[in-house]
Amino acid sequence: MIYVNGLYKGYGKEPVLKNITFHVEKGTIHGLIGRNGSGKTTLIKCLTGIYRPDRGSIQICGGDIYDQPRIKEKVGYVADRNEYFSNYHVDEIIDLYAELYPTFQRDDFNDFNEVMGIDERKFIKQLSKGQKMRLAMILNLSMHPELMILDEPTEGLDVIAKRQVMDFIIKEVEERNMTVLITSHHLNELENFCDSMTMIRDGQIIGGGSIDEMKEAITKLQIVMEKGLPKGFDQWEGILHYSNLGSIYTIVWKGFDEACEKALRAAGASLIEEIPISLEEIFLYENWGNE
Ligand code: ADP
Repeated sequence: MIYVNGLYKGYGKEPVLKNITFHVEKGTIHGLIGRNGSGKTTLIKCLTGIYRPDRGSIQICGGDIYDQPRIKEKVGYVADRNEYFSNYHVDEIIDLYAELYPTFQRDDFNDFNEVMGIDERKFIKQLSKGQKMRLAMILNLSMHPELMILDEPTEGLDVIAKRQVMDFIIKEVEERNMTVLITSHHLNELENFCDSMTMIRDGQIIGGGSIDEMKEAITKLQIVMEKGLPKGFDQWEGILHYSNLGSIYTIVWKGFDEACEKALRAAGASLIEEIPISLEEIFLYENWGNE
């Protein structure tokens, strides 16, 4: 669905995006994760055909979105700020979407809005930040895009609206095989939502893949070591982090397997238990978050 290959993009001489290559499968939810200033919005603007890449290629829905504007009809885009058309009424914007996008379904908009409760008689400028975001979201969902691109869509949404919006998106993915690319700097928000992700720092990809595989690769353990850890334990292969509270040790281990467990038992571990690890911890201990 999305194929980005060797992409470079800058605003002056210096590139902001450097050699970005990744792909997103149809019908999946892909997270683009990085700190502020890492280049996420620049990448999104290339993917939505707003910017032309300096080098490299982008294929979306089977074509180049910059050169083939008709592809834009298949792509929904919700930006982090929705300050557009502030002097229009909500119902005028709905009519505009219906005119611009042949796939827009007014009935579906009405169903979404039953839940969202946006007053269609209001001016856009009378809506709160969260209401504008909810409106942008359901306008885009009602055009049933093949690909939905969401730039920090949960900013400004309260917990309930966030859940409702996420549920709408998951339903579209399940029922219509919609593909989603979503950016965020909140890892924990994305971890139960995305199938895969790409981590970006300083305009470069520093990691990523399937969330399940990433979680499988790294194990968090709680173990009891009455006599403490053996000397040189931090040099053991795959040890990313450890801490302790008395004789109870918490260890983050990359590539933990039966042989590692055996070695731990031989070193005196009396209880070894695997505990859940979050994406945020993986990000932290893999050193993806550091400069
Ligand atoms: P993110 O979305 O991850 O916060 P951005 O893509 O907005 O990152 O920004 C990446 C870098 O590009 C930052 O250093 C930012 O200052 C710079 N940048 C973004 N937009 C422009 C612009 N229009 N002109 C010049 N520099 C820009």
